Amino acid sequence: MVKTLNFCLITLGCPKNQVDSQGMEKKLLQLGYRPTSTPRKADIIIVNTCGFIEKAREESLKVAKELAKKKRKGQFLLIAGCLPQLWGRKIAEEIPEADAFLGTKRWMEIGELVSRVVESPEEKPILLGDPQGPSFDSDGLSTTWGSSAYLKISEGCSSKCAFCTIPTIKGPARSFPRQALVEEARRLVEEGVKEIILVAQDTTAYGLDRGEKDGLVTLVEEILEAAPALKWLRIMYASPLRVTERLIQAMSSYPQICHYLDIPIQHAHPEVLKRMRRPYNAEKIKGLVNQIRQTIPDIAIRTTFIVGYPGETEEAFRFLVDFVEEMAFDRVGVFVYSREEGTPAASLPDQVPEEVKEERFQKLMAVQQRISYEKNLKLVGKELEILVEGYGQGLSVGRSYRDAPEIDGMVLVKGKLKPGEMVKVRVVEALEYDLVAAI
Ligand code: SF4
Repeated sequence: MVKTLNFCLITLGCPKNQVDSQGMEKKLLQLGYRPTSTPRKADIIIVNTCGFIEKAREESLKVAKELAKKKRKGQFLLIAGCLPQLWGRKIAEEIPEADAFLGTKRWMEIGELVSRVVESPEEKPILLGDPQGPSFDSDGLSTTWGSSAYLKISEGCSSKCAFCTIPTIKGPARSFPRQALVEEARRLVEEGVKEIILVAQDTTAYGLDRGEKDGLVTLVEEILEAAPALKWLRIMYASPLRVTERLIQAMSSYPQICHYLDIPIQHAHPEVLKRMRRPYNAEKIKGLVNQIRQTIPDIAIRTTFIVGYPGETEEAFRFLVDFVEEMAFDRVGVFVYSREEGTPAASLPDQVPEEVKEERFQKLMAVQQRISYEKNLKLVGKELEILVEGYGQGLSVGRSYRDAPEIDGMVLVKGKLKPGEMVKVRVVEALEYDLVAAI
């Protein structure tokens, strides 16, 4: 009898990577491989790596090297995702113990790769570049946990931000077919998913590569029509340049669309924005945020900023701090600039010393922490609907429409609530990032 092989899939990085991993898992299950969560017990270990910034690459490499060190005889180690895509053949020198490498664009070839490796272990295939077959595969559209799912609506990015490696790793934006996404959303909701979170490098660019205007709104409307039982539809990674009147109107009129918008702004100072190659300014952002807040008064706006970008002077940083104070965003992610080889920003003059970057990071985080706490205080006494995610030590943990998974706060409720349920709670206490509520 032929032994059924086990595989262990380890995923690092962002939700988009998690979706690709789910796609690989589906392929392997269809082929009869069995999943295990213990690397030691697996015949095949697949590490889906992240390569977005240096820190992420270091972590991915560390995980891969540790697994390589512990690799036992007869076990296969496959390195997938951003690291091989970014490093090309060099990756094989970094992790010589690995048996095969698979780039981000070719995750759907995992089944063929595994059989190749098992059948001829000396070969060490490296599959990079564009896929052999079609670049779209409906197995890689979503990943589910609890009652939530990420739905990836496109791959790649056509923007030219000077600091970013994504276009190099993933290539230009390619929107997935609308029909397939609508069908996937319908299926997810039928299976009990209550929250669908749309992800992409830039969700608002959806359809642009096919010449569609406001493609995201059309997609959202079709999803809601096909899956009317969906409770929450959340939109992540919206470009400030592409949040249109139609999108804002749709968000305000469809009750299922969470009053939550993640708009990465990255900076506010005109010189820094210019050096980042992000064609807008603080005034434009203010106008946009005001317009959104006027139309949707309870909107929670999340954004991200990079501090310590080349040429960010003390004055430019102060400008950013003032902007953050004035705008009082609900959620802010702060990143220290990471000098990425091969990006235009890496060769810019006036790189900021590490200790200054770190200092600025701490300062901006402290400013936002205060804002976040003040915002949370205003919620005390208010009613919020939460999606329960777990229970432990007498506390239930959930998220409201204001909280995206993994990056935002949580709502803590005393007592046992059923994970996956949506429950109305009343906020009784504000913490810096989280809320405490009662049933
Ligand atoms: S829009 Fe985002 S993913 Fe695209 S280049 Fe800019 S930072 Fe990178």
